[in-house]
Formats: sequence, C-alpha cells, structure tokens
Amino acid sequence: MGLGIAWAKAWMTESARIVSEHRGELITLDREIGDGDHGENMDRGFSAVLGKLDGLPADASPGDALKLVATTLISTVGGASGPLFGTAFLKGSQAVAGKEELTADDVVAFLTAARDGIVSRGKAETGDKTMIDAWTPAVDAAAAAAGEGRSEPEVLEAAADAAERGAADTEPLVARKGRASYLGERAVGHRDPGAQSTALLLRAAAVSAAS
Ligand code: ADP
Ligand code: MG
Repeated sequence: MGLGIAWAKAWMTESARIVSEHRGELITLDREIGDGDHGENMDRGFSAVLGKLDGLPADASPGDALKLVATTLISTVGGASGPLFGTAFLKGSQAVAGKEELTADDVVAFLTAARDGIVSRGKAETGDKTMIDAWTPAVDAAAAAAGEGRSEPEVLEAAADAAERGAADTEPLVARKGRASYLGERAVGHRDPGAQSTALLLRAAAVSAAS
C-alpha cells in the first residue's frame, strides 16, 4: 500500500510540530554561521502550511498537498531557504502529480526532483555546507532502499537517517554558499541550519509514514 493524501497531510502536520519544537535550535545554528532567522522562517512557513491543509479539496492527491506546501513556503518563509524549500516541494510535487498513492519509487522520484530543484536554483554542490549535504545522501539512501524492494516507510526512514548523518557531517566543512560562506574558516565546527531543518522534515515524513 502506497502513501496517500492522509500521509501527505500527516507529514505536514508533523513537520509543523517538529519545526516548532526545534525552532530555538535552528535559530542558534543560524546565529552561529548566519543571521539567526532560520528557525523563525521555518516555523512561520510550516504554521502557514498547517493553516491551509484543511482547505484542500476532499479528492486532493499527495501531489496537490505538496504543491500547496511549495506555494505557501515560497510566500511565507523568506530568506534563502524559502525559495529553496519552495522549489524543492514544487519540483517534487510535479514528479508525483496525479498519483493517488505514492510507491517507494515515487518517493525516490519526489526526493530526487526536490533535490534537483534546489541545486538548479541555488547552484550548491555536495560539500558546500548547505541543505544539499542532507538532501543528496537522503536521495541516495532512498534510491538504494527502494532498489532493495523496501516499503515506503522504510525508504523514508532510510532517507531521514541519511539526512541526519549528512547534517552532522556539515560540521567540519567550510561554507561555499549562502551567508555562512562569508565566514570562511569560522564556519568550521558548526552545523548548517538548512541541512538540519532538511533532516527534521525528512524525519517527519518517515514518522508519518510509519504511524
Ligand atoms: P538566510 O541565509 O537568507 O538568512 P535562512 O537562514 O532561512 O536564509 O536559510 C539558510 C540556509 O539556506 C543555509 O543553512 C543553507 O542550508 C541554505 N542555503 C543558503 N544558500 C544556499 C544555496 N545556494 N543552495 C542550497 N542551500 C542554500
Ligand atoms: Mg538566516
């Protein structure tokens, strides 16, 4: 059984909860190597998403919900991360458009298109100390899990685990994109806030699929 609209809505509800719970942590991370607004930006965006979920039509597909997330994040999050996460959800939603239930391969298609959207918009490469350093390991782990015939919740769990490791692995890096790149060596030892919020969102996706 694939992941339907109930999962997509549960994912966004859990995302709003987890982002709100970790708001202070994201603010601290962004204060260390940016301007300190990432926690507020994400909390504002996902609160707005939560407020719009009930407005989805009864026959909405997961792709419809994910597209609503995209437009909401683009208009409410601001900063560098708003357009980047917005593009991720927009491109990801297009990759699964019209499907009532997402299979493991659809989950991989969603994550791949989301990551590719961020890269085409922000031009970050692996190792630049950005959210891409969480997204790309997540895509790779999801593809490997789907290739082994794992279930949708297992594919999302693999993605979330890899994103968490990827976020932790940004700590020793020098940033080459975004505000943190102005700091040079001083960014070393700090975790990238956008990689951390990516890990939170993918954990929310996995938790919502497992329950
Ligand atoms: P701002 O930097 O404008 O204050 P946020 O604090 O909301 O925006 O988001 C910062 C995060 O955005 C960074 O931690 C990083 O993960 C991500 N980011 C910044 N620039 C890029 C980029 N060019 N490509 C990918 N991610 C980026
Ligand atoms: Mg910031």
